[in-house]
Amino acid sequence: MRGLMQDWPLLCSKIIDHAAREHPRREVVSRSVEGPIHRTNYKAVRERALKLAQRLEKDGFGVGDRIATMAWNTWRHLECWYGITGIGAVYHTLNPRLFPEQIAWIMNDAEDKLLFVDLTFLPLVEALQPKLPSLRKVVVLTDAANMPETKVANAVPYEEWLNEVDGDFAWKEFDETTAAGMCYTSGTTGNPKGVVYSHRSNVLHSMLSQAPDAMGLASRDSMLPIVPLFHANGWGLALTAPMAGARLVMPGPKMDGASVHELINTEKVTCSAAVPTVWLMLLQHLQSSGGELPTLDRVVIGGSACPRKVTDAFQNRYGVKVVHAWGMTEMSPLGTLCALKPEVADKTGEELLDVEEKQGFPPFGVEMKVTDDANVERPRDGKTFGRLKVRGPAVASAYFKNQGAEMFDEEGWFDTGDVAHIDENGYMQITDRAKDVIKSGGEWISSIELENIAVGHPEVAEAAVIGLQHPKWDERPLLVCVKKEGCDPTKEDILAFLSDKIAKWWMPDDVVFVEAIPHTATGKIQKTTLREDFRDYVLPTA
Ligand code: AMP
Repeated sequence: MRGLMQDWPLLCSKIIDHAAREHPRREVVSRSVEGPIHRTNYKAVRERALKLAQRLEKDGFGVGDRIATMAWNTWRHLECWYGITGIGAVYHTLNPRLFPEQIAWIMNDAEDKLLFVDLTFLPLVEALQPKLPSLRKVVVLTDAANMPETKVANAVPYEEWLNEVDGDFAWKEFDETTAAGMCYTSGTTGNPKGVVYSHRSNVLHSMLSQAPDAMGLASRDSMLPIVPLFHANGWGLALTAPMAGARLVMPGPKMDGASVHELINTEKVTCSAAVPTVWLMLLQHLQSSGGELPTLDRVVIGGSACPRKVTDAFQNRYGVKVVHAWGMTEMSPLGTLCALKPEVADKTGEELLDVEEKQGFPPFGVEMKVTDDANVERPRDGKTFGRLKVRGPAVASAYFKNQGAEMFDEEGWFDTGDVAHIDENGYMQITDRAKDVIKSGGEWISSIELENIAVGHPEVAEAAVIGLQHPKWDERPLLVCVKKEGCDPTKEDILAFLSDKIAKWWMPDDVVFVEAIPHTATGKIQKTTLREDFRDYVLPTA
């Protein structure tokens, strides 16, 4: 017997329709690329997105066409997402921080036909365009008055291009499993792989991430997504915030500590989301300026492990709740969030920080397990690590053009490439990327845990740990540190600091100081480069 409920396709257009109908005057505030603060609302965003959809159709674009964006978080970028998906085309967010050759490779792999680009990146597009045979047009996200001279062929200013249609248009209808968006994984090895979101996965992901133990967004919130829309589906926030009717505050190109602080306070932001590096910059700025965060209620921190000292500073110095989260581009991206279950809710002080150092538990819609190499599930005891595997309706079932097929098994589990353990309360903790874990004498040492402890040293700004060849133990850890400005810690200081915090056999065999640690385009420590830099380094114990 079939249920007799309505077939209401889960399309992205339903989200902006809902926001415009139920929360029409809720503001979308942006720091524009041109400079000034810009204000609009969900009703106007929907109207302009409809125009954009109509204009795209007039240019001959339709279902399945990949349309790239290389843009900061602003109202215009938001309009692009809804306009593109509104005709069944596919937004493809490009990370401008990648090497130009990589961007060209990705755009050709995706066969992008049109590009929406911010003024900031016009010089980059000038260099790229000759390598992009499928690209037909470039729309520059500005108006004619601010449009510079450019060598980019077929470039038009957004506002004038948009105004060539009247907006008398209706969203196209299609199956909810139709592709809506694309984002390539950072791909530290091999070619980047395309993740393809569907309308259904985007809508379900927003619903699951709205839950109180997840993002917990409400219409009373002012959400500042500092995480760019081009990182891991923008953590879904371009969809989740309108779905919740939350006010959106978009930082545009400015993500330094002072700019973020100013925006949080002047726009009375209540919640925000970003990677740890951004929060470290904000905390440093607050420390030197004596600033406070009176309106900020909570911050979601993910993308890399959140250092304990960041959680400690936010919660105990500034009164801001930290929600540690883990996810992946392949997961739309939310996987787990560290909300407090009743089992741990009454913990305080260091015991609470112990819990919050973990990446947390999944919302409904994400299944997770940890297995050994033979795919046998490992006990949930908070210490037995293994390969972290996930499945769910907003988890990739394959990559574009069927690359990386070995990451998916026949039961539908995706191997995340992360190493983790899960405790008796269901809290997962990432201990490493599978390829970064240090294998010493048949045992595993977590590079992430060592890094977390090392950055807790008051004179260390950043730390990275890699495994180096060792004749007796196979691999041993090398700790690479960046000193805080004006500080001069020694190797002995650092080792003494670590000595009562870790097992003896986890102690790094050496500590070296460098000016800077290399990062990937999504802000993670680039261990491949670091391993290359220290390839010929001989440990004193070797
Ligand atoms: P991306 O797809 O670029 O967002 O990268 C996903 C990867 O980032 C994951 O597989 C993890 O290795 C890492 N990651 C994300 N969030 C966290 C976190 N909270 N702690 C540790 N690693 C994380």
